[in-house]
Amino acid sequence: MTQPVINPPFWLLAELTYRCPLHCVFCYNPVNYDSIKNELDTDAWIRVMREARALGAAQIGFSGGEPLLRDDLDILVAEARRLGFYTNLITSGVGLNEKRIASLKQAGLDHIQLSFQDSTQEMNDFLSSTKTFELKKKVAALIKKYDYPMVMNVVLHRHNIPHIDKIIEMALDLSAEYLELANTQYYGWAMKNRQQLLPTREQLVAAEATVNAYREKIGKQCKLLFVVPDYFEERPKACMNGWGSIFLDIAPDGAALPCHNARELPGLNIPNVKEHSIQEIWYESQAFNFFRGDSWMQEPCRSCSEKEKDFGGCRCQAFLLTGDPAATDPVCAKSPNHHVVKLAIREAAAVANADTSKEFPLVFRTDSNSKRFAG
Ligand code: SF4
Ligand code: SF4
Repeated sequence: MTQPVINPPFWLLAELTYRCPLHCVFCYNPVNYDSIKNELDTDAWIRVMREARALGAAQIGFSGGEPLLRDDLDILVAEARRLGFYTNLITSGVGLNEKRIASLKQAGLDHIQLSFQDSTQEMNDFLSSTKTFELKKKVAALIKKYDYPMVMNVVLHRHNIPHIDKIIEMALDLSAEYLELANTQYYGWAMKNRQQLLPTREQLVAAEATVNAYREKIGKQCKLLFVVPDYFEERPKACMNGWGSIFLDIAPDGAALPCHNARELPGLNIPNVKEHSIQEIWYESQAFNFFRGDSWMQEPCRSCSEKEKDFGGCRCQAFLLTGDPAATDPVCAKSPNHHVVKLAIREAAAVANADTSKEFPLVFRTDSNSKRFAG
């Protein structure tokens, strides 16, 4: 067994709020977000940033929900910059008008990532249940005007993956330098909609071929990042580069999480920054130490030669698909539960080939749906 070496956190994700004007069907926020109240105030966030920076964290992402809904965002960005963080804003674009972007620029914001849902107004607005497509295009122009690299993110799934060429063309039209084509990860709201969102293998193969053809054609004009959904792989991803290894997520209420979905895992005592310092949380808390090293692993991971590479995969995925957070991630072909993933692909393909939109309606991220899931 390997004793874990605990390095300091590198990446601090500040989820400033779960409030969001959009209602994305693949939203990565917890499905019970509506019951999670008591957002940290400005002073608490400043303390979190100071302590994380003192520990060694170098990058900060301001996300949500929609972080622009926080009136103190400029203050937080300015303080993060003063502390020496590289600062990222992860936004839907709603609320980013000229006055706001000018003030964020002045505060020292380094980087903005703008999300789109699709290349067509119809699908963009349908999937987010808002009329935001034209507004996002205006925001993209503002981002360029204020001399930021244009970093666009589109979450891919069965409904927009056939438009991948149009999505790339849209990114080129908007002079994007980076386009992240991120296949949906099946947690949170996306898990509720998995049968409606999981693409077919044929769709994925075609999409990857299109991306590769564009890479040849456009060279360095725009960097295309295409992340294959791990349901279609034989090995899991090294989730978070290992539990409690580089990533520290602070949720709006101050819960400190080793990954976005960790509070859904049973058996963890999730620490809160209202009660503990970042130092205590990172080095001493039960939750951050729980899946460090390999002593928690079961077979086949425990004796596997690849365990230093993928750390047994994603704990949240293992729990969601098997009910056991310490199980081998079923995405792995060596997992005794790998059939669960194969079955999900087959079921989603059956849904894709039939008109089942009435039987399996998409569940939108809304406060009322969230109340329902909170039970
Ligand atoms: S995924 Fe959509 S609904 Fe969820 S926080 Fe982002 S923009 Fe808002
Ligand atoms: S058995 Fe575990 S450690 Fe080995 S490849 Fe699969 S998930 Fe990774």
